[in-house]
Amino acid sequence: MSDAPELLPVEEARARILGLCTPLPTEWVPGDDALGRALAEDVPARRTLPPWDNSAMDGFAVRAQDLAAPLPVRLTVGETVFAGKRPTREVVPGTCARIMTGAPLPPGADAVVMRERTRAVPDAPDAVEILEAVGPGNFIRPRGEDAKEGALLLRRGTPLGIPELGLLWAQGQGTVPVPRRPRVAVLSTGDELCRVDEPPGDGIVDINAPALALAVRRAGGVPTLLGIARDTREAVQEALSRVDGFDVVLTSAGVSVGDHDFVKDALEALGVEQRFWRVAIKPGKPLVVGQRGATLFLGLPGNPTSSLVTFELFVRPALRRLLGLEDVEPPRVAGRLEGRLSKAPGLAHFVRVTATWRAGELWAKPLGTQTSGALRSAAAATHLLHFPRADSSLTDGSHVELLPLSWVA
Ligand code: AMP
Ligand code: MG
Repeated sequence: MSDAPELLPVEEARARILGLCTPLPTEWVPGDDALGRALAEDVPARRTLPPWDNSAMDGFAVRAQDLAAPLPVRLTVGETVFAGKRPTREVVPGTCARIMTGAPLPPGADAVVMRERTRAVPDAPDAVEILEAVGPGNFIRPRGEDAKEGALLLRRGTPLGIPELGLLWAQGQGTVPVPRRPRVAVLSTGDELCRVDEPPGDGIVDINAPALALAVRRAGGVPTLLGIARDTREAVQEALSRVDGFDVVLTSAGVSVGDHDFVKDALEALGVEQRFWRVAIKPGKPLVVGQRGATLFLGLPGNPTSSLVTFELFVRPALRRLLGLEDVEPPRVAGRLEGRLSKAPGLAHFVRVTATWRAGELWAKPLGTQTSGALRSAAAATHLLHFPRADSSLTDGSHVELLPLSWVA
């Protein structure tokens, strides 16, 4: 296993990780469990919907040509048609039907006049006065406007939001084919770590494992905590030998060049092929990526903020790809920098900022502490500001790229 001498640019590192991910096998799940996941197959419509031309309004179904006479036009009301009921009579010249929203249009009628544009006739309960002329098709929802039997309803890869699930439910489809959720093992490494419910003594509470598990779940994966491995190659190796059946293994810490950094060695000893190590990024430089069979190993850096930032930039996109989603890149919005920033060229910085809308633009103000260990500024941040690798300064008002943070509560 060779240590890559070059630091990979962020985009290339992400592209390489995505190149290792393909959508997982399909499972059929109820709609509520499919929310946010992608369709694994093209879904054709089983039903034409709506099944008939129907009214978009409560009002009167008329023949448009009857309204050519001087207004108001008096028509005889034949029947009342409700949603879910079939009309029984044809609308012949000089007549109309009272109709409710969603009710099928009776034969003979070709337009609907909304109730508010009509008037009752005091002495003639079976008549109505129409106060406006409308053209054919007025307030009619045509048959098949939502779905045509046999035609493509939703394409494979479509993210299933609430309206998409509504379309499927309307088809009588209660379960949906989606790639199954990625199973993700999460391991913390470090002699200094203890669980949140243990007295820390001189140690440090393991934040990464529970934080990453939550991030995995939010990204649509199923996390399993593997606990804390101590800083020996054997301990890390032992913990990582229990990862059969997982699609992704996330470790944190121990990937740098410290005397106690054994994750890369342990991966190598387990036959994991290292794909790359180290990305031109701050925070998060020591990221290591490997693969064994169908399992992807992502060794995240130990600092809690670094592990969360690398999760957003690399892990979430990978999980989304495994879930069959096509739009996997972190979302970005355009903003302006409030203040100035400088750094040495070479690493892309992802600066924790709070961004607020002013005069139609999103203004991003860097938070005070930007060290990789500082969680407080990660907690306060609304976005990460992308300070490109090659740049050394950004002036006040610079146009910048901002990544909304999904860990914002
Ligand atoms: P390392 O990469 O092992 O040198 O870790 C870098 C820093 O992150 C050290 O200060 C560690 O104590 C800290 N760290 C590592 N793992 C965790 C964790 N699971 N939770 C909180 N801090 C951690
Ligand atoms: Mg360590």
